[in-house]
Amino acid sequence: MTQPITSVVIVGGGTAGWITAGTIAAQHQSNTDAGLRVSLVESPDIKPIGVGEGTWPTMRTTLRKMGISETDFIRECDVGFKQGAKFAKWVTGADDDFYYHPLVLPQGFMHGNLAPYWQTNGHDKSFSAAVCYQEALCENGLAPKSIATPEYEAVANYAYHLNAGKFSEFLKKHCLEKLGVNYTCDNVTRVISKDNGDIAAVDTQASGEIKGDLFIDCTGFHGLLIDKHYQVPFIDKSDVLFVDSALAAQVPYSSEDDPIASHTISTGQAAGWIWDIGLQSRRGVGHVYSSRHTDEERAAEALTRYIAQSVGEARAKELSFRKIPIRPGHRQVFWQNNCVAVGLSAGFLEPLEASALVLVELSAEMISEQMPTCREAMDTIAKRFNQTFRYRWDRIIDFLKLHYILTQRTDNDFWIDNCDPDTIPDSLNELMALWRYQHPWDHDFTSRREVFPAASYQYVLYGMGFKTESDHIRLTPQERAFAQRQLQENDRITRMMVSKLPSNRALLNKVHDYGFQKL
Ligand SMILES: Cc1cc2nc3c(=O)[nH]c(=O)nc-3n(C[C@H](O)[C@H](O)[C@H](O)COP(=O)(O)OP(=O)(O)OC[C@H]3O[C@@H](n4cnc5c(N)ncnc54)[C@H](O)[C@@H]3O)c2cc1C
Repeated sequence: MTQPITSVVIVGGGTAGWITAGTIAAQHQSNTDAGLRVSLVESPDIKPIGVGEGTWPTMRTTLRKMGISETDFIRECDVGFKQGAKFAKWVTGADDDFYYHPLVLPQGFMHGNLAPYWQTNGHDKSFSAAVCYQEALCENGLAPKSIATPEYEAVANYAYHLNAGKFSEFLKKHCLEKLGVNYTCDNVTRVISKDNGDIAAVDTQASGEIKGDLFIDCTGFHGLLIDKHYQVPFIDKSDVLFVDSALAAQVPYSSEDDPIASHTISTGQAAGWIWDIGLQSRRGVGHVYSSRHTDEERAAEALTRYIAQSVGEARAKELSFRKIPIRPGHRQVFWQNNCVAVGLSAGFLEPLEASALVLVELSAEMISEQMPTCREAMDTIAKRFNQTFRYRWDRIIDFLKLHYILTQRTDNDFWIDNCDPDTIPDSLNELMALWRYQHPWDHDFTSRREVFPAASYQYVLYGMGFKTESDHIRLTPQERAFAQRQLQENDRITRMMVSKLPSNRALLNKVHDYGFQKL
């Protein structure tokens, strides 16, 4: 007799909990009698972390699969469009120092690599501007689509900036009203185990035991199941990624018509960087820094100075900052017995490149698609899940570290220490050595679904001034002609897009007034 999996219990109702609940409930028809039973319990006393406002384009698919209307989501979660990140002051720290990591692939990327041609044929444009039109859209404050583009479809690939608190509430309403998720608002106080070490149930303060076959730990930094109960070791990455503290602020616009940036602005500071995310009604701005290289007072001064540039000193000084400690790292394994950690309970590195929510989406997707039909199949699925996500965490660590190791900044030990070879993972050192002689390409990575593909590495490397040694670049006449055509085509598309697309603010206003066409 096998032990069928008929019920999933999610502990925690932050973004991770509700994304996971919605993904599983939608796929496994939890709103029908025959569907998988999905329950979520969240504490009435512990609020979700309330940050995490930058996302990846994957969010469009995640929401669509849950049956959510994009128009409703944009209206209710204070959403802005995000078309990538602008990194200012990461290379020299000068006022004119910036580069883009857009979300659109280089022109013709599926058919050839433009980097060798761009590097060798005297270019007057940055890599991202030469090969992709999205930098121009961002610099002009334009939206990635128009009101006539159907829901979730793009003219230029895009993600979202969103209000994290509103997003959890929005997902909760959808999960409860449309997807058949059972809900308990109570504190989990105890774990009840089976003889084999599996979790049989979680006990709550007032609502009794909640039994299940699979438990998902979405309790954030509390790590109630994966850490407190199973004591799965935490792999500390503070020797590679130094940021360990955040100060977060909410900054009002000066007027209702202020432009809304359609990209995340990440500005390098003496000992960290500042994120600046444009929502419809306010900006989310925060400073992440290394407490080994600066202190809270100096970080707060830097954040106030940054905000004062846009709203004036008097208003900047009125704002309050919320401090959030960060311990960069992740669990040794994410799936232990019949328990999987998703979200901050699984780990967190730093907000750079918004890699946390995309990992939540990928985890929820894999759990849902690989949902074991019986307990007997679970250990094999758990092993694969752990291998897949360990690979993803390692690749993300490499990619985040890449942003720090090509800096020329020497104004603070933060930047100097980041370039110390001893702090760079071997896997990244190996790739950097390879890329001295050849340009990054898909063969450099082994997963079918990389979180950051070769194109992302190209944008950061060449944006930061990295050079592959020219002596090793050989281009056939066909490759040269192909690249020339792609660069010309990109020029043409850029001019067309800039003349046609509305401003980010104008499109968001239209979504409020009329909504997108439903797919
Ligand atoms: C400074 C900062 C900036 C960030 N920026 C980004 C970004 O731009 N993009 C991005 O992708 N990610 C970002 N992140 C990460 C992002 O915030 C999280 O991945 C996301 O919010 C998911 O959090 P969570 O749901 O795992 O945890 P939380 O939001 O902390 O939710 C935890 C839940 O567990 C519940 N809980 C805890 N204990 C119990 C208990 N005993 N019983 C019952 N329930 C319990 C709580 O009630 C709560 O509902 C950022 C993180 C930080 C710290």
